[in-house]
Amino acid sequence: MTAIQGFLDFLDESPVNFLAVSTVARHLEEAGFERVDASAPLYNIQPGDVFYCTKNDSSIYAFRMGREPLGEAGFRLICAHCDSPTFRIKPNAEMKGDGGVVKLNTEVYGGPILSTWFDRPLSLAGRVILRTDDPLHPLTRLLHIRQPLLQIPNLAIHFNRQVNDGVKLSKQKDMLPVVGIITSELEEENLLLHVIGDELGVDIDDIMDFDLYLYDVTPACLFGVHQEFISSGRLDDLSMVHAGMTALIDAQPDIPEVTQVLAIFDNEETGSLTKQGAGSPFLSSLLQRICLNQGGTLEDYYCAVEKAFMISADNAHAWHPNYSEKYDPTNHPVMGGGPVIKFNAAQKYASDAVSAAVFAGVCEKAGVPCQRFVNHSDVAGGSTLGNILASSLPLRGVDMGNPIWAMHSARETGHVKDHEYCIRAFTAFYELA
Ligand code: ZN
Repeated sequence: MTAIQGFLDFLDESPVNFLAVSTVARHLEEAGFERVDASAPLYNIQPGDVFYCTKNDSSIYAFRMGREPLGEAGFRLICAHCDSPTFRIKPNAEMKGDGGVVKLNTEVYGGPILSTWFDRPLSLAGRVILRTDDPLHPLTRLLHIRQPLLQIPNLAIHFNRQVNDGVKLSKQKDMLPVVGIITSELEEENLLLHVIGDELGVDIDDIMDFDLYLYDVTPACLFGVHQEFISSGRLDDLSMVHAGMTALIDAQPDIPEVTQVLAIFDNEETGSLTKQGAGSPFLSSLLQRICLNQGGTLEDYYCAVEKAFMISADNAHAWHPNYSEKYDPTNHPVMGGGPVIKFNAAQKYASDAVSAAVFAGVCEKAGVPCQRFVNHSDVAGGSTLGNILASSLPLRGVDMGNPIWAMHSARETGHVKDHEYCIRAFTAFYELA
């Protein structure tokens, strides 16, 4: 299997945050990483150990321990996020209409381009919470319904002749997906719960709650005369998740000098301020626990933070051939031109001249090109992980990402070469002595 096919499979296996985390965990375990439970004291950690832990089933933190203790050598961190804009199924979601047609009530998650979700086969993924004898510890099962289950039908052009002049969309009225037509009395009640129960093989009375989201079931694919483009949902930010994971698994030697860390956060699209988001102290306390485990002190932990370097990896905007006026005149990264360092004078990005120079040096070492992005000065632009993480973990670091088109569309476009470049740059970053 080619490396890029591995990435396409990874995208298809990761329709939402929870599934992305379980996919990363599976790859890590196949590479020998051991699962650690953050609610138990850490075992006696040794150089060369590889392990990971999760928080809320929707963020994941992986480590390859270096020869040098954290306090002596710091650590190398790559972080990215596993959530993407989508629609969350509300409680009591079924809404019945004429002819028995049932649509589901949803709530928007993050900032999707709403119109891109029309008229494409969708399905459900996320987690379902099942009853046990212990109310404090219900059971979590992941759900990934792989066949097309829903669609959000557009309004025919005959009802809105101005549709191509731009349409204002209501999240509550226009964006509700149709899930089926009731054919039996049994389906009158709890149609959705029956779907979930059948899929998981459980009694619907045992389903206590769920975190379920819509996703585009059309598989990721390549296109272009040279098959140079990647078309998929969730490239933001699963491409960086995959690149970081691949680099951590492939990095040599088995016992590096400096500890390698990969952190995949949830909830970047809604501001990161959750226990599993980049604004959480979870990663900093894990690093403190590792320092203490190595026989170090809190002082050693602070030294480790000062010596560390972070790559905050989140996608960037590639120059779009139809909208060149939206881009900065001298800093607009192109497709296939390599990873992008992001700058912002108001410091929405962590990059500064020093950290950018470090990352550019890493790319040079890896033999890959790198580009620079700054917003057109009349365009506000977005934000990302680096600076939010800085409130709990004030690391030296760079904000970067790969150039993509149509960020937050149900289907974004990236470039095969950029993905390969990024894996090489990340691997070189981890391997630097
Ligand atoms: Zn992102």
